[in-house]
Amino acid sequence: MTAPTRLPAAPRPFSDELLSSWMVRVAARSGLAAPDMTTWLAGQGREAQPHRLIDDIAPDPELLRLWARACRVDPTRLTRLSLALRFPNRVPTWILERSKIPVCLGCFEADQAMGRDSYMRSDWRLADHLVCPIHRQMLNDRCPACSAQLRVSFQFRSGLLRPFCSRCRGLLTSRRGEPDHNLDAGFAAGVLDLQRQIKRVLQRHDDSRVRLEHAIRTLWAPLDRVDAVRPVLALWFEQPGWHCPFEARAAVSTDAPFQHLPLRWRALTLIILGDLFGAELDFGAEMPETARWLFSRAVPVLPHRQCLWRRSDEEKRSVDWATGRVQRLSKSPVHRLSENFLDERRDFGRIHP
Ligand SMILES: [Zn+2]
Ligand SMILES: [Zn+2]
Repeated sequence: MTAPTRLPAAPRPFSDELLSSWMVRVAARSGLAAPDMTTWLAGQGREAQPHRLIDDIAPDPELLRLWARACRVDPTRLTRLSLALRFPNRVPTWILERSKIPVCLGCFEADQAMGRDSYMRSDWRLADHLVCPIHRQMLNDRCPACSAQLRVSFQFRSGLLRPFCSRCRGLLTSRRGEPDHNLDAGFAAGVLDLQRQIKRVLQRHDDSRVRLEHAIRTLWAPLDRVDAVRPVLALWFEQPGWHCPFEARAAVSTDAPFQHLPLRWRALTLIILGDLFGAELDFGAEMPETARWLFSRAVPVLPHRQCLWRRSDEEKRSVDWATGRVQRLSKSPVHRLSENFLDERRDFGRIHP
């Protein structure tokens, strides 16, 4: 029987660290990528399934024990890092995919200043976590140097792991020489207030979360016009001819738009919600008049959802036939000279009389 593997030295997880981030740091000290380390450790177990391990939400307990034993860490300490335990009331649709995790550059700078490894925070995987409450700045889901969607890789510098953009290889900590970001401070503060309200709504045990999700889905539902290619929130802009940017198109008419939206569009969605429902984001039984009018323009995409605001079954059935057609058309390419947007100009100018 093979003796259990024990690594000579392994870093301890930080209390606010993602489990996968800690695994990356451990594996890097052995010159391995986390999946390779997982496979290697799994070789020490009998029924381990490596592909199940790197799961921040609900990690495989058997492989977690292997990692804990190899690193001389209390297994319960690793279990506590899982998102399922850290955020017990959170539904999966409010957690981002690992490939889309934004980061706070201020937190990375703090890691460097404190002389410790840089690491990924668990809060960054929450879809509603847009502003770092410590540094009061927007998270980044794009590289500040090359503007590509940010994928962080970690490499050693002076014995500690530092974050780099996987695409341009630029270091993600040093901000010296960049323009002053004070102009963004007010915007970030406003989004942070809304972000706190969203967290409050998600923790409530009444219908508020259902109403919040319905409101977001409706904002990103296609307009009820059969040839519309824009979501309902296009009307909020009061700009005729407003195009839904390509980067946000994937969210239109989806069940959980927040998961599919880039960070800045999630922030904008919160701002629109704040405008429609008030800064307290009160999703009470009575919908504000402006929101009611705006939402009445949505094609009903959610017939199977439980929502206290939805239409009657009869109304719903009468429009079901059109829903599929509108959704298909909303994703069809539209020629820029189709004049589709010209025809919709009369939609605008009624949101804020
Ligand atoms: Zn931060
Ligand atoms: Zn880059």
